[in-house]
Amino acid sequence: MTILVIEDDAIIRKLTQKILTNAGYIVVEASNGEEGVRLAADYSLDLIICDVMMPGLNGYDVLAQLQQQEETKMIPFIFLTAQAETGQLRRGMISGADDYLVKPIRAAELLKAVEVRLKKYTRVKQYYAEQLDQLNAKDTLTGLPNPSSVEDAFQQIISQFPADLDSDAIPPTALLSISIDRFPLLNEYLGHGVVRQLIKRVAVRLQGVLEKYGLIASLNTSEFCALLKPLEHRYEVTGIARELLDVFSEPFAIEGHQDIFVSLSVGIALYFRDAFTLDKLLNHAHTAMVRVQQQGGNQSAFYSVAMNVGRFNAVSLESDLRQAIENNELEVFYQPKVNLQTGKVVGAEALLRWFSPTRGLVSPNQFIPLAEETGLIIPIGEYVLDEASSQLRRWQMAGLKDFYMSINLSAKQFTQLNLHHRLSQIIINNQLQPQDLQLELTESTLVNNGDASIRRLKALRSLGIKIALDDFGTGYSSLSYLQQFTFDTLKIDRSFIHKIHENNVNATIISSIIDMAHKLGLKVIAEGVEEQAELEFLTQFECDEIQGFLFSRPIRAGEFLSSPFIDLDTLSQTV
Ligand code: C2E
Ligand code: CA
Ligand code: CA
Repeated sequence: MTILVIEDDAIIRKLTQKILTNAGYIVVEASNGEEGVRLAADYSLDLIICDVMMPGLNGYDVLAQLQQQEETKMIPFIFLTAQAETGQLRRGMISGADDYLVKPIRAAELLKAVEVRLKKYTRVKQYYAEQLDQLNAKDTLTGLPNPSSVEDAFQQIISQFPADLDSDAIPPTALLSISIDRFPLLNEYLGHGVVRQLIKRVAVRLQGVLEKYGLIASLNTSEFCALLKPLEHRYEVTGIARELLDVFSEPFAIEGHQDIFVSLSVGIALYFRDAFTLDKLLNHAHTAMVRVQQQGGNQSAFYSVAMNVGRFNAVSLESDLRQAIENNELEVFYQPKVNLQTGKVVGAEALLRWFSPTRGLVSPNQFIPLAEETGLIIPIGEYVLDEASSQLRRWQMAGLKDFYMSINLSAKQFTQLNLHHRLSQIIINNQLQPQDLQLELTESTLVNNGDASIRRLKALRSLGIKIALDDFGTGYSSLSYLQQFTFDTLKIDRSFIHKIHENNVNATIISSIIDMAHKLGLKVIAEGVEEQAELEFLTQFECDEIQGFLFSRPIRAGEFLSSPFIDLDTLSQTV
């Protein structure tokens, strides 16, 4: 530690220097203010002790000058002052000194003041060093470069392409958006400490593959981006992405967790094909990555214009959809729900189908979001509510017992003012029991509407209607957080169920979700069950109900009762 002592009185200066040197500090001496300012710029100092009264530059002047220099303004500054001058000290403190010592100097007092100031300064320096690290070079957790280095590398690559190069001749340069699948849940179930270590190790694996091909950077805790060196052919990217996914087939072992399986979603955008600025490429790669995530992850996909095409076609799709309602092109299909303990069909989910004369069968994934945006979801939702409820009544009349109807409700419908009233009307008109109806709501619908959601849910549940939390595992909220919204059933999303028997982490997470849900008094249903092995897992974890192609696709109302899976026991003897 180096300390500068500025003092015109040679005896006091020498005394101060001795005390400090004996205590192990390196001391630089200045006999006047001008020299002090000069030396402060030359040395890398940790502290300055400066007399107030000096000929030429006095102590205040020295301090003022040092505060104007970037390199010296942070250095702790202690005034030395005679007893008679203490009245003036307020001025010294106001001008930014950190402390003052009154002459005559006592060793203990001096050393104490020095120590306190140095400690504080060291902390400040560390803090700034970390901040600087973050800003300049590396992600503090993963040690990977940050996105600005990708920007630099990108500019360098494209500046090497001759300006007059035919666009077809530009070597494809790929930008990858990489994210850890189901990160929020990993975080919740492994705990913060383990997850931090996991991220570091994930970064090492990513780096291990990507350093051969280009550059990888941390975007945030669970997302990375990589810039590959120009390739000969764009199909090479697929191989590289494959290699990336493959190094994650081996589990991680961290602190007693032996089998932490991590999978990635990788989105790819290409210079020059998809865009020619880094921002746009990042956006496109991100869009492709999100698409992969939505399909269950552990894949890579090239960005395609079709991924944004929803926006493009929205206008004509909207006018077609308006027609669809009038022309009766909409039909409700029903997918059975099976109780795993009894093996019986205990309910159905109403799923909308649009048979367009010009477009063919349009997926609800395409038109529901549009209907939501344009407000068309209100009449469409009315139609589904009416249709599904009267269908339920018809089935009950035909003798179907202990059976409930589940209806999806999107955000706009949930926040509609007369929803409560409409539902009670429907129940009365169709002579239903309220508990025969279940509404499926997603976490985002609930979370985005905050306190209002809590009140609405209460009102609906006071009618006796059941509420299911749909698509659990795709959003970002945790089960404990969602507990503030009272509901009856937790519905685990199909992307989570997919190949659950081959994914130890998901299996562990799902078993703890089921466990926790049961402790909270919730029923658990799994959707998208396609394989026998998935079913076996879910049975073993004591999941209550399942839904999925393994058992039945969504089918027409007319096929429902005659299906082989409707156990005659569930139909009363009167039929
Ligand atoms: P969701 O609520 O998550 O519905 C489940 C989706 O998974 C349905 O897709 C269903 O057909 C599909 N599915 C069921 N079993 C399996 C399986 O074993 N494997 C696979 N791969 N898929 C399976 P669908 O019918 O295309 O509906 C898509 C989404 O559209 C629904 O997702 C729901 O969010 C929305 N939706 C459908 N009908 C309505 C409706 O009447 N109102 C509202 N607001 N939204 C609806
Ligand atoms: Ca649903
Ligand atoms: Ca779902």
